[in-house]
Amino acid sequence: MSGQPLHIDYYKFMDSFKGGKCPFCSYILGKKEGSFKHLIYEGINDKYLRRDFIQSGGFCTAHLREFLRFRDGLSVAVLYEQIYINSAAAAFERKPRGPDRDNQSCMLCGTIETWKRMYITLFKKHADDEDVTSAVQGSSGFCLPHFRLLREEIRHLPPWFEDFERSIFDGNIGLMRKYLESCSNPAGTDDDKPSWKQVILSLLGEEGV
Ligand SMILES: [Zn+2]
Ligand SMILES: [Zn+2]
Repeated sequence: MSGQPLHIDYYKFMDSFKGGKCPFCSYILGKKEGSFKHLIYEGINDKYLRRDFIQSGGFCTAHLREFLRFRDGLSVAVLYEQIYINSAAAAFERKPRGPDRDNQSCMLCGTIETWKRMYITLFKKHADDEDVTSAVQGSSGFCLPHFRLLREEIRHLPPWFEDFERSIFDGNIGLMRKYLESCSNPAGTDDDKPSWKQVILSLLGEEGV
């Protein structure tokens, strides 16, 4: 590790191994929650941020639905009154409506890409540090999409990391087999059955990442 002071994202990176979920998913979910809360509690008072948000047309559909889960009506009304007016006016225009707004200009979609780059950079830089190696090995492992992304983006992943992930994926395949066996055993209860949900989350990653 270099002698430079560690960035705050390094500490968030280290925390990502403690959540019992894919560390990459955990990091993005944590950053996203922080970003929604920042918008609700502080960003909403920033007139330049409000102006940029409204001019960009707001969140994509998926991120707007997530924002609504915070049930902060005031923030929604402040941010979306003008967007609604603009959208209603555009619906009456005869000119072609242009590309669908999904993912065209959603600020959060762009920011998530930056966070992903940050995570890949941190992993690449620190994977062989002793404390990171033991944190990864004590975690529940990366989901398949994020393991794949790390493999694509980092040319030389440490061999121990590939072995560790293989053991996670093999363990999940074993769980799925056990689950199928338990389904054919009428005497078994639901409590005896291993979790197939864990396997599917490993295949897909967490919702909203
Ligand atoms: Zn993941
Ligand atoms: Zn978005």
